[in-house]
Amino acid sequence: MPNSNGPLISVKNLKTVFRTRGGEVHAVNSVSFDLAQGELLGVVGESGSGKSVTMMSLIGLLPTPPAEIRSGQVMFEGSDLLTAEPRELRRIRGGKIGFVFQDPMTSLNPVFTVGFQIVEPLRRHLGLNRAAARKRAAELLELVGIPDPRRRLANFPHQFSGGMRQRVMFAIAIACEPKVLIADEPTTALDVTIQAQIIELVRDLRKNLGMAIVWITHDLGVIAGISDRVIVMYGGQIVEQGPVSEVFSDPGHPYTQALLGTVPAVRGKRIDKLKTIEGQAPVLENSPSSCSFHPRCALALERCGRELPLKMQIRGSHDAACFLAKTEMSPANA
Ligand code: SF4
Repeated sequence: MPNSNGPLISVKNLKTVFRTRGGEVHAVNSVSFDLAQGELLGVVGESGSGKSVTMMSLIGLLPTPPAEIRSGQVMFEGSDLLTAEPRELRRIRGGKIGFVFQDPMTSLNPVFTVGFQIVEPLRRHLGLNRAAARKRAAELLELVGIPDPRRRLANFPHQFSGGMRQRVMFAIAIACEPKVLIADEPTTALDVTIQAQIIELVRDLRKNLGMAIVWITHDLGVIAGISDRVIVMYGGQIVEQGPVSEVFSDPGHPYTQALLGTVPAVRGKRIDKLKTIEGQAPVLENSPSSCSFHPRCALALERCGRELPLKMQIRGSHDAACFLAKTEMSPANA
């Protein structure tokens, strides 16, 4: 039976590999983290750091092949999602765990009305009849801030603006009041005004429905504004995690420090020159046996190129995987 005091989702030692013609790509390497009930967890990192692949691995959204979950455990309500039957996984996806993708135009089906696309999961997962599902679908559109929701149910996705389509995606994802909502770069394709509206919408949904939210992004400003905790990913690994206020004010990993350094600093009317992180994110052909960041790290030591740094507990639930992490505790590698 699930432990109501324990984490809602507990991920242990997740490894995901892609088989390509050029060989294997180790996209997710020994990732472990917990998601608590009702918390908002930010996941940040550059493109290719493994953020989306990690979250898609949890709920069986990756095509296999080429993807292969090589090891790990994802405990949710007392069962391991990685060994769940496809039918059970489909029941959980969209029912208890919702997912919002970056681009609503590729996620919404252009040949079905928005109403149909909201009604379907309500009928399938909650067993509502057509009339009740349509009533609920209109309520959901209203909840996500779409005016004249009853009429809009009959519209197709192309009849909505980009921001409105993203709101529709949220309406579909929350239709069955999931316990967890995973949002993958949900505001990246939107202009800043719409971004702010979507962020406000997520705050309201969390407050009103009490769901846990995983927010994947490379926008550190968004994470600073909405998250309780943050996970920083690099090379398919979690290199730092902890309460967002601590990680952002006192980062323990040079990659997190470099990422924070790329955020433009505004001084009066002047904006400092944008900084970049020199070099390229790694493509891992093997499980890392040394620090993946060492070719780009300004602080690298000789041992960084031949040893894998252990996760060091910096303070409380704040840890970083770096030989230089200032720790008040002993190594806490799980
Ligand atoms: Fe830099 Fe070494 Fe720390 Fe890696 S382990 S981040 S290379 S100092």
